Amino acid sequence: MKIEFRKVPLQETEFEINSNSVKFLGTFSKISSKLAKINANMNGLCQVDCCKCGQSYDINIDEKINFLVSDGIYSPDSRDDEELVIIEVEDHMLDFDDILRSELESLHSEYYVCDTCKKNDNYVELEY
Ligand SMILES: [Zn+2]
Repeated sequence: MKIEFRKVPLQETEFEINSNSVKFLGTFSKISSKLAKINANMNGLCQVDCCKCGQSYDINIDEKINFLVSDGIYSPDSRDDEELVIIEVEDHMLDFDDILRSELESLHSEYYVCDTCKKNDNYVELEY
């Protein structure tokens, strides 16, 4: 799902997209000529790899993510942006699929330890 930046509505508008078993839904609206916000919820199952044994397994994700989308280079102002994920778009297009894809990629790049390895870790600790 793509929308031209200048066509992003001023009132909060609902959206919903899916990627495999992950649902990405929420609202988006324009807050200035160069800025839009997306309040999204991402939930579903995401496949990750254990960093110890390499085993793939599914994790349940249920995350609220607030995005601030800038049409062009974002210049921070006095707003409190700590809770926001900043996205800069270069082609004046708001691309929800792309945002979801990059969020899933950042989930994948985190470290995960599967239950079996966690148990083994505990066992080793008990031995000392
Ligand atoms: Zn493991």
